[in-house]
Amino acid sequence: MNAKEYVAQIKQQVEQKDPNQPEFIQAVDEFLPTIVPFLEEHPEYIEKNILSLLTEPERFFQFRVPWQDDAGNWQVNRGYRIQFNSALGPYKGGLRFHPSVNLSILKFLAFEQIFKNSLTDLPIGGGKGGSDFDPKEKSDSEIMRFCQSFMTELSKHIGPNLDVPAGDIGVGAREISYLFGTYKRLREYDAGVLTGKPLDFNGSLGRTEATGYGLVYFVKYLLQDLTDSFKGKEVFVSGSGNVAIYAIEKVQELGGKVVTCSDSNGYIYEKDGIDLELLKEIKEVRRARLTEYAKEREGAEYHEGSVWKLKAQADIALPCATQNEIDEQEAKQLAENGVKIVAEGANMPSTLAAVQVYHQNEMLYGPAKAANAGGVAVSALEMSQNSQRLAWSKAEVDEKLDGIMKNIYETCRDTAEQYAEKNNFMLGANIAGFKKVAKAMLMQGLV
Ligand code: NDP
Repeated sequence: MNAKEYVAQIKQQVEQKDPNQPEFIQAVDEFLPTIVPFLEEHPEYIEKNILSLLTEPERFFQFRVPWQDDAGNWQVNRGYRIQFNSALGPYKGGLRFHPSVNLSILKFLAFEQIFKNSLTDLPIGGGKGGSDFDPKEKSDSEIMRFCQSFMTELSKHIGPNLDVPAGDIGVGAREISYLFGTYKRLREYDAGVLTGKPLDFNGSLGRTEATGYGLVYFVKYLLQDLTDSFKGKEVFVSGSGNVAIYAIEKVQELGGKVVTCSDSNGYIYEKDGIDLELLKEIKEVRRARLTEYAKEREGAEYHEGSVWKLKAQADIALPCATQNEIDEQEAKQLAENGVKIVAEGANMPSTLAAVQVYHQNEMLYGPAKAANAGGVAVSALEMSQNSQRLAWSKAEVDEKLDGIMKNIYETCRDTAEQYAEKNNFMLGANIAGFKKVAKAMLMQGLV
């Protein structure tokens, strides 16, 4: 069987096995065609049917999470953990608390995580987890009780050499702290069991900023190859959470101007540039909505709906909110706006059709598994510091992050060129990520 026939067979197999998992199927569909040239050179992976193993999680758990709200009502949510692939190290990937969470979304995230983690060159496998719990408008006590219940079950399945969760949408330092407290009570004090911990107990300096900063470093190196920089660039950012805020911070530091940010209701457009201090105050301290930002800034416009419908000139787009936030039409709008680079802070924010539009318009496209790998990379550095019982300085962590993102960018670029697909960073990321995982799997045998 040749490589094209083989990936077509795998695609069909995945669709047949899990017809009700559209996001997982989308992530596999995006991945498979790009690794064909590599498989053509390495028929041993076809002979050993490695893709059948790779598209099947090693295991996953679904569990009941019972908790009591402030009014005394008993509530129940679903909890999940996907342990997708441990060829390169313990399962590693965040926990997401959002009402949209289901098995399909977590499987897509965990699948992507395998290759992202491989690209960092750090010893971590791929996993993901979370719950359909909605943390919005919950009191601090409700969040605490939910996290305690969630960890009561999760603690049976994780450990510093087994599976090390971190944060994601709806899970920040507050949630990680409650989860950690519960793990400690049930098992033992082991700092290495969760990352994204606060600095007060074994967190890493620079972890909060890592995904956003890393994304901007990736684009910085891409711009350098074009003998260009962020100076004077007009940038659209979506989202206003952890990734978005620190992407905005780094773009501003490097001389770019970010004119948008968004939440799930609407977006801010501010021609003179977003006021980051105010944004941080509203999102990180008050935990309020972006409508408040608009009320407090004269030059800011607030519009309901997707930021990607905005008609305004821009050079770079950094989607940092959620999956499938940019569809085909919105990608065309970006092209019309003059956007030349799209780099993904969020996971799979562009639909497959949107990605095609980027390619047709010769926009440079940095896919999530490469461009947002900075977060998990610093999480792995947090694991190293926890094992050493040392804390590195912020400058040291940042320097390592910058080096890792440079390496990821160059690996994607060089791999794409090696397969005569210059500037196809998606192909570069997928082949480079796959190569290491597949080799390790083959060496470890049929397990
Ligand atoms: P946060 O919870 O801190 O922020 C999420 C942001 O996205 C919020 O502004 C939220 O708005 C918005 N958002 C969420 N869902 C939707 C939706 N359906 N439509 C529009 N906007 C939405 O999460 P993070 O910043 O941590 O994560 C953002 C993205 O980055 C995710 O895709 C995540 O998987 C990815 N990522 C995160 C990493 C990390 O280190 N945190 C690492 C790598 C990737 P609202 O408040 O209205 O919900």
